[in-house]
Amino acid sequence: MKKILIATNNKGKAKDFETLFSPYGFEVQTLNDLEQDIDVEETGVTFEENAVLKAETVSKLLGITVISDDSGLEIDRLQGAPGVYSARYAGEPKSDEANIDKVLSKLQGVPEEKRTARFRCVLAVAGPGMETVTFSGSCEGLILEERRGTNGFGYDPIFYSPVKGKAMAELTPNEKGQISHRGAALRQLKEHLPQLLGSLGEGQ
Ligand code: IMP
Repeated sequence: MKKILIATNNKGKAKDFETLFSPYGFEVQTLNDLEQDIDVEETGVTFEENAVLKAETVSKLLGITVISDDSGLEIDRLQGAPGVYSARYAGEPKSDEANIDKVLSKLQGVPEEKRTARFRCVLAVAGPGMETVTFSGSCEGLILEERRGTNGFGYDPIFYSPVKGKAMAELTPNEKGQISHRGAALRQLKEHLPQLLGSLGEGQ
């Protein structure tokens, strides 16, 4: 099976990518699967800057083509926060539970129509001898008043998808991939870089 390296240590993202890449016959590997410890500091102020930084740093270190993902949640009522700071919104050590609690308390008493939000994802592809390219995707929704569901990761339990009529954490991995910011960005990548993914099922 062909392998694809995703420049992330995030196990939730890794699972999303496994679901998204398995139809193409790829085994997803992440930085957690490597012997050396690689942790790229995200110093950018946009998803795009951080995605490029992660992909180029890891690609240069290993000398191979890699895909990185920088993503997060933008809440309109909070002027786009937590945005690029989504992973560490409630501080260190990073905790999905503490991040969710912080969002819920900031939105306490805010009516449904003002709880609009979106997930954003930028994928960057960097490799030896190629110019780095990026693809983006987003997914519109509403912030719930309490957690629903146990699937997914991060803010999934409090993100309601009107398209599916469910919280993101109530969706199966495949259902999430159909509507998620990550799925949308990957479909862009597939359209513009078909040679990277190869033909469907190849290598299986
Ligand atoms: P990054 O590693 O800097 O890209 O941080 C991404 C953070 O955004 C994650 O740690 C989550 O808090 C949040 N996030 C990104 N994608 C998702 C998703 O698909 N579901 C829930 N939370 C997400």
